[in-house]
Amino acid sequence: MNKIVNNYRKIIGQIEFYKNKFSKTSKELSLIAVSKNFPKQDIQILINEGHMIFGENKVQEAISKWKQLKLNNSAIELHLLGPLQTNKVKLALKIFDVIETLDREKLAKKIKKYFEEEEIINEHKFFVQVNIGNEEQKSGVKASHTKDFVRWCINDMNLNVDGLMCIPPISSNTGLYFKELRRLCDDSNLKHASMGMTDDYSEAIRCGSTFVRIGTGIFGVRD
Ligand SMILES: *Cc1c(COP(=O)(O)O)cnc(C)c1O
Repeated sequence: MNKIVNNYRKIIGQIEFYKNKFSKTSKELSLIAVSKNFPKQDIQILINEGHMIFGENKVQEAISKWKQLKLNNSAIELHLLGPLQTNKVKLALKIFDVIETLDREKLAKKIKKYFEEEEIINEHKFFVQVNIGNEEQKSGVKASHTKDFVRWCINDMNLNVDGLMCIPPISSNTGLYFKELRRLCDDSNLKHASMGMTDDYSEAIRCGSTFVRIGTGIFGVRD
């Protein structure tokens, strides 16, 4: 069997296992296959398996890989997982369905402006990225500012904010950060917590993740 198919089926099985094991906290759970750095042919293998939710980190790369794939498969849901510069908002909204890296006021204002100017229906979903470990080098709003920022994005910017996303610090205690993100979601009445990658998704599921984002575990090690 193809390596990617093999990995994918294993991961799906593992996710089901942890979802049942932690059924108290894990009610709804989806897998985002993170295809950054991997070519269209590899992605097509997963689409053929019936997988429809994917993640990419860069706008330009996403356009070159996904324009045709999305035309051929209208059920695909593409998530942006990397930082979004304000000058790429328009392009990003054209190719992505879910922006998981809403992390600052300037960006929210630019998105609002785009929706108004283009007079298109705002059907996108947004997750606010939280800098859950308060790390200098990482983007995201502060945990303490999350509730206010989410409310402002929903009420004043008219954005459909539906969840939070985090990339926790490298630590032996990742669960603490995942639990904190889940708590922040509940505090703001948000359904989705996007957390958990190849190395820590079981812990994220235990803490109430609704989207795990897995790249290496499916496609292999990136260059
Ligand atoms: C690359 C990336 C992932 C996937 O990471 P793996 O360790 O390869 O599973 C998930 N989330 C974000 C934000 C990423 O940049």
